Amino acid sequence: MIYRASKASLPLNYHQYFLALLFGSIGAIVNLYPIDLAYNISLIVGNTAYIIAASFLRPGLTLLCALISVIPLYFYWGHPFGFITLGLEAWFISMLRARGWYVLTADLLYWFIIGMPLTAIFLWCNLEIAQSVMIFTLFKQIINAMLYTSLACILLFTFNDYFQSIKSSHKPLVKSLPKWLLYSFWSISAFFVICVSLLLSTNFTQVQKALLVQELKINNSYITHIGNSYLNEHQQALQNLSYQLSGITNPIAKQTTLSKFHHLYPGFLTMFIATKQGELEIASPISLMERLSIKQRSVIDRPYFIHAMQDQKLFVSAVFLGRAFGNDPIVAISAPIYANNKLNKPSGIVEGSLNLGSFGLYDKIKLDEKQIRTIVTDQNNRIIYASDSLGLETLTTLKYDDRATRETPNLISLTIGGNKNKMFILEQKKLVNSWKIHSLVEHSFALKIIEDMYLVMFIILFVTLLTATFFAKRFAIHLSRPLSFVMKELSKAKKTGDFRDIPFEAPSEIQELYQELKINRLALLNHQEALQNEVLQRTYELKQANKKLTEQANTDILTGLYNRRYFAKNFVIMQSFLSRNNSNFMYAIIDFDLFKKINDTHGHLFGDYCLIEVAKILKAFFNRESDIVARFGGEEFVVASQYNDLELLKVRMNKLLKKIETHTFQNDSIGPIKLTISIGVAVGDANYSTQQEDWLAVADKCLYYAKDNGRNQTAIEVVDIATKH
Ligand code: GH3
Ligand code: MG
Ligand code: MG
Repeated sequence: MIYRASKASLPLNYHQYFLALLFGSIGAIVNLYPIDLAYNISLIVGNTAYIIAASFLRPGLTLLCALISVIPLYFYWGHPFGFITLGLEAWFISMLRARGWYVLTADLLYWFIIGMPLTAIFLWCNLEIAQSVMIFTLFKQIINAMLYTSLACILLFTFNDYFQSIKSSHKPLVKSLPKWLLYSFWSISAFFVICVSLLLSTNFTQVQKALLVQELKINNSYITHIGNSYLNEHQQALQNLSYQLSGITNPIAKQTTLSKFHHLYPGFLTMFIATKQGELEIASPISLMERLSIKQRSVIDRPYFIHAMQDQKLFVSAVFLGRAFGNDPIVAISAPIYANNKLNKPSGIVEGSLNLGSFGLYDKIKLDEKQIRTIVTDQNNRIIYASDSLGLETLTTLKYDDRATRETPNLISLTIGGNKNKMFILEQKKLVNSWKIHSLVEHSFALKIIEDMYLVMFIILFVTLLTATFFAKRFAIHLSRPLSFVMKELSKAKKTGDFRDIPFEAPSEIQELYQELKINRLALLNHQEALQNEVLQRTYELKQANKKLTEQANTDILTGLYNRRYFAKNFVIMQSFLSRNNSNFMYAIIDFDLFKKINDTHGHLFGDYCLIEVAKILKAFFNRESDIVARFGGEEFVVASQYNDLELLKVRMNKLLKKIETHTFQNDSIGPIKLTISIGVAVGDANYSTQQEDWLAVADKCLYYAKDNGRNQTAIEVVDIATKH
């Protein structure tokens, strides 16, 4: 959750509140018009708005948006549970979206772990809803949720740029290619599978419903037909019988006629002829008379007697329960008899008690096939006949509650078998005598068809999602495999440029990208190589420069000999080496004689020339590898060397003096001139001193001695460790 509370972000907050209200209102407006499908199924599409909002608003604001959207549903459903289940849905999705979840997966998770159990609890507590409908209602709920969520996902995909531009509280989703593909496949396939399934199932169920109603009507017509013809036939027959009896006076003949007739029409349970005084005269079966008491033999007070006698026409009584045979409801049909065909005054009546239980014959056959139940009521709405499975008492008044809905206007709730309430779809038809035929089919039977449809839809959806997962993976492999190949190939440092071709099918865009990247990669590699070479070159140059610098630091510029600095450093090395070997060491200072005069006479340049020439001679003269010849400063040179023989040294030094003395110095137009040097030498055990100054002091002393003694000579002093102070 990102809460922006600082003052600087206040405008952003207002902006987000505005978006929550806007999307909530859009959702509410759309929710005002649920799409009604068959059998109490209506689709809620407005919730799409808060699902979209969940992808860029923080959970609290998404909840606000959902609560606004759900307001019309409260009035539509008549209960407030939507505020809880749908509000939680919005909040939950936004929460998970902030944690990088995808909206569709978050919603699926919500419905499975929270939404469905919560709805089930609400349904359980709400007694209005039959528990058999619960699973169906849950299916409905989740399919509806999948529909608006997948629609939201499709809209989010389609208008991605716009939703991105909205200042979102959530970070943009960064998902791998297979996941993107999977989610888009899921959204699109879920949306279309649900739409197509709903469309087909709605049509199918409407056809089913029409068929069912048709079936009920047919049942009605059939029962009506049976009823009408049954009644008509018996009325007609009784009328005929009354005419026939009018011509018979002989009681035996009367009995025979009645018995024969009764035999022909077994629908009559009992039949009798009564005199105009209302006394039973003849009965069929004959045994009936014996079973009736004297009192029972008088029918003077019975409506069928009174009406037939007074109105002098065929009379059909209301339905009543037969007293003599069984418990079937019966109607009494009576007609006047005119003795000797005197039509003005009836001499009695003939009556037949018609058994109405025969309606059940048809019903019993139909019952097992279609679950269609039949109820027949008389003009007083009393049940004459009801299918056994309904468990209704005959001759009780038929009572039911009207549960009509827009989709099912003929829905009723009937108390059957004591106190069990069941919903039925009802079709009624009136008979000519104001009786009513009611054909019913259980509403759950109709619902079962839809439930099955929804189950099939659910399975199709599941299979579709599985298929989508499979194909998304395949497509993703198809796309990401060449990409990872390209990446792997390019990561290998290949200077030759012989990158392998993509060994499998790849989209042209990836091929082009690969070409481009190969060129860039090669250019990069070449550039790298050039850079490396340049670095190597520079390093080499730097080393050379360093070397030169070191050399320069150790070398005297004019003569090219080592300078005093180098000499001092190497004196230490040489002295310590020789002292370890107990060798003799020589330290000589060579100074030009009267050099100032040469300079003054021939100029400094020539003086320099002389210095260079002497340096060359010295270098050539002291040519042992261990010898160090250096320019000490001005016109003074210094030589350090190991020696073994003092006499030999003296000879060598004189040889040097001779070499310089005899050398001709000539440069340009100057010269030739001659010059000499003086040498002061300190020799002796190298252990004499580790300090150059000590050796220098002795050598310098000797040099002064040589100068003082006439120059062009060598003065040597053998150092004595004992005299050292
Ligand atoms: P002495 O025999 O007593 O050593 O006499 P000198 O003239 O050589 O002695 P002095 O020390 O008086 O003079 C040294 C001269 O060396 C002075 C200077 O002009 C000259 N000199 C020193 N360094 C250089 C140099 O680098 N180049 C040239 N051309 N002359 C130099
Ligand atoms: Mg000097
Ligand atoms: Mg000098």
